[in-house]
Amino acid sequence: SAAIVIEDLIKCVNFAAEKHKNQRRKNPEKIPYINHPIGVAFILTNEAKITDVSVLHAALLHDTVEDTDTSFEEIENLFGKTVRGIVEEVTDDKTLPSAERKRLQIVHAPDSSFEAKLVKLADKLYNLRDLEKSAPEGWSEQRIQEYFEWSRKVVDGLRGTNVAMEQSLDEIFKKRNVI
Ligand code: NDP
Ligand code: ZN
Repeated sequence: SAAIVIEDLIKCVNFAAEKHKNQRRKNPEKIPYINHPIGVAFILTNEAKITDVSVLHAALLHDTVEDTDTSFEEIENLFGKTVRGIVEEVTDDKTLPSAERKRLQIVHAPDSSFEAKLVKLADKLYNLRDLEKSAPEGWSEQRIQEYFEWSRKVVDGLRGTNVAMEQSLDEIFKKRNVI
């Protein structure tokens, strides 16, 4: 029922908030990290018009395993196998060097499930909007431009998934002259 869906989503946002409680975003404003997963979920409901609750759970949880002590088992126990599977698809292997992780995101994008592609598109859209607002400390203009160019390559492997998000991303790439 609607009440159970709401209860589960609040449980999920609370779990993510506790896991990310000591983290901040890389922008100079040092925004609490939890603003990002909540914002990614909001892009999915508000702009992409997604109502699949598993996708919204995965959006809220998408950086918990990558960036906190959260395990996939914990996610499965609390939120089920479907959510665990999507979170696994959007989690980078942190034992790999970061250049290799970035390369694998480009390679794996086209093979992702529809649900994982939605989370990946919303994640890229949120991060590029963040970069448009302000540069993370220590990032040169060249590094920012390279991030836009890499994101474009990942997004190219995610196309045919959601018109609204892909249009917003294309406008951002156009503004930045990323072909
Ligand atoms: P990333 O390039 O991976 O940093 C970007 C990530 O940080 C985003 O994907 C996002 O991930 C998160 N993030 C947090 N706050 C913000 C924000 N305000 N705006 C946008 N993203 C934010 O950092 P790494 O430290 O992993 O960098 C490693 C890579 O960077 C290397 O592979 C190399 O290619 C490149 N590099 C380039 C340099 C250059 O001068 N050109 C110099 C050094 C490195 P999430 O969604 O998970 O939060
Ligand atoms: Zn993210």
